Amino acid sequence: MLKICAIAGAGMALSLSAAAAEPCMKVTLTGTQGGPPLFNGQAGAGTLVQYGDETNGCGAVKLQFDTGRGTNMRLSQMKVPVGKLDAIFFTHMHSDHTEGLHDILQLRWHFNSGGPKVDVVCSDDAKSPLGHTLSCSRYVTHIGDSLIESGEIAQRLAENKKRLPGGPADLVNIMTFSPGGDPMGVWQKGDVTVSAIGSKHIPGHASYRVDTPAGSVVVGGDAGNDKPAPPRPSSTSEQVEKLAQGADVLVHSTIHPVMGPDKESGFPPPIYFRQSNASDLGALSKRAGVKNLMLTHLIPPMGAARQGPFPIPGGALDEASYKDAVAGGGYEGNTIVGTDLATITLPAKN
Ligand SMILES: [Zn+2]
Repeated sequence: MLKICAIAGAGMALSLSAAAAEPCMKVTLTGTQGGPPLFNGQAGAGTLVQYGDETNGCGAVKLQFDTGRGTNMRLSQMKVPVGKLDAIFFTHMHSDHTEGLHDILQLRWHFNSGGPKVDVVCSDDAKSPLGHTLSCSRYVTHIGDSLIESGEIAQRLAENKKRLPGGPADLVNIMTFSPGGDPMGVWQKGDVTVSAIGSKHIPGHASYRVDTPAGSVVVGGDAGNDKPAPPRPSSTSEQVEKLAQGADVLVHSTIHPVMGPDKESGFPPPIYFRQSNASDLGALSKRAGVKNLMLTHLIPPMGAARQGPFPIPGGALDEASYKDAVAGGGYEGNTIVGTDLATITLPAKN
């Protein structure tokens, strides 16, 4: 900024306008519910990452990572119209991370059929060892099928012929990639680059990193360690750790150690072990030099007496329960125990 002033030989006016155009980014949790259960109106998993400068509210570029139940409602609270999303990224095909896409794309088709298309970025089809296939591209391609079958699409087309004839899937530009063990570029616009790495949870799971001149954020999704059960050095993903080196923000799903099989919850051990627990995420964040750890997709939710059918040993957890678990992993950075619409703005304002 000072350099610009010196070259231009300009005074205070230019200095102020240059200052107003400093880059900034915002990371917002659009939903923090862990897994399929409902609790107290929390939306399903999702993270909105926006980048720009103060003239556009840090929002020139808008990226949505996962679209759990109710994502549309949270976006409306953020005053982010679905027609303004540049791209949607999926970590994996579990419904608690995807089911809001139907709502988002139908709304976009309804009012924004003139375009632009929205990029949907996700893994190639992934074959499960059990025989079935996890397919983001088929999920997206068929997103409007139930509305076509019900007659809704035909009805709306009859009312407005400018809408795209194939329904909401016509508005999507699907960009699939084959996630590997090292970060790979999967999306880019201006100064914003998104890279991805393959990680373990269910087949096709990927974690993402957004880099901008204002800062960086990693969205780990539900990643866990490659080894599905102990003995292992950590419940966290080595690939996420690689991706998160020096990141300003790590957004990660978590499970509290109180749900572990050594306690009394009855929570199924394989489901417990495929998530990263809060203490191990604290240790990962310390090792990787992460400045802010945003816990999301909390299992169990704060204040809940049960996770689905499973009781919480010792009763409902609160913010301190999660912060204590993170601190137990040795993390001394800023921990945010996620609630819907929790936001971090970068660079941090002093
Ligand atoms: Zn999940």
